[in-house]
Amino acid sequence: MKTHFYLYLNLIGLLTMLECTSLYRPMMELPLRVHIINSNHSGIDANISNSEVKELLVGVNKVWKQAGITWKIESIVPSIIGNEDKLANFLRKPKDLTYGRKLLVNSIPLENKLETGWNVFLIKSLGPSGGVYLRELCVIMFPVHSDIGRHPQILAHELGHALGLNHVKADGLNLMQEKPPKGTDESLRDPTKANYLSKEQISKARKQALLGRAFDIRRDY
Ligand SMILES: [Zn+2]
Repeated sequence: MKTHFYLYLNLIGLLTMLECTSLYRPMMELPLRVHIINSNHSGIDANISNSEVKELLVGVNKVWKQAGITWKIESIVPSIIGNEDKLANFLRKPKDLTYGRKLLVNSIPLENKLETGWNVFLIKSLGPSGGVYLRELCVIMFPVHSDIGRHPQILAHELGHALGLNHVKADGLNLMQEKPPKGTDESLRDPTKANYLSKEQISKARKQALLGRAFDIRRDY
């Protein structure tokens, strides 16, 4: 009996220690609906296969593993965007990004949005942008053929915003680093290297994950 009691105490002590050191972190699975935008405009049509989408998510999940978070594809659905002509015109020469952003917000079809999870819309290109979190709608737009390439780290970054994470100073390492100023060390601009999350960021993201999608962020691109 006495032995059992000591074993019990040891078990409680072990669990407390693991929680305090963040070694014990139950895996969280977050549902993600992927909307593939179809269009006759070649600048909009995402033209990506389901297996490529799954491959993209493998890359995203490699990044989020450190936080004990797995993004699970709930479904992959086709989607038609509004204001196609205006959007295609804008994407040919994306200059006024504020206008482009407003146009996107007013064009994204929301009838198929997964309300109990997260949503990402895949589009061919977003001009100079590698991805954007539109907090007004709580959706991510991700260009699958962007000027800077298709990097799972960038989608992982946008999902960070969707879990309430703000930008941190550009250091070449953090997943949530802000855009490095032009003319800085090129290593800071390599999205494949910036995939680290701090303990504080992990804790914040996991708390937000329990609440759902985040709206409250200062910046969103
Ligand atoms: Zn950002």
